[in-house]
Amino acid sequence: MNKIIIHWTAGAHTPNAVDKEHYHYLIDSEGRTHEGKYKPEDNENCADGRYAAHTGGGNTGAIGVAMCGMFGFTGSENVGAYPITPVQLEACFHLCAELCKKYKIPVENVWTHYEFGLNHPDTTSHGKIDIIYLPPYPDVKRNEVGGFIRNKIRWYLDKI
Ligand SMILES: [Zn+2]
Repeated sequence: MNKIIIHWTAGAHTPNAVDKEHYHYLIDSEGRTHEGKYKPEDNENCADGRYAAHTGGGNTGAIGVAMCGMFGFTGSENVGAYPITPVQLEACFHLCAELCKKYKIPVENVWTHYEFGLNHPDTTSHGKIDIIYLPPYPDVKRNEVGGFIRNKIRWYLDKI
């Protein structure tokens, strides 16, 4: 595995069956981690069709971590009924640190889906809005979210 892509599900606060097919790990609003249908290793080779399809144009070698929520999000003025919660976000940072350590993935290779789309404009990930806004940290601008997340992951990595 060579990278982690962080998403939100654009659904409710707990994972549904479809969510579980698309992400390796899902974090609910109470900070609990749920395993998806596929293991990260299933994404080492996506040619067999048995893998978690979470990042168009970038699934191979990529672990998909999703926070459950953000259905109805249309911008910082309207985060919808299922905003990412503080405990959920902390759990995401912690999980990503554990995964970086386990799979020897440098924190520099942890991206939001939004960032991946920006860097790969020829893929279907282009234009994805996860993650352009963190409800617990409303002052973090959309192009700062990825760096903010990586710094938090580094903090956890120092502790484990
Ligand atoms: Zn996504």
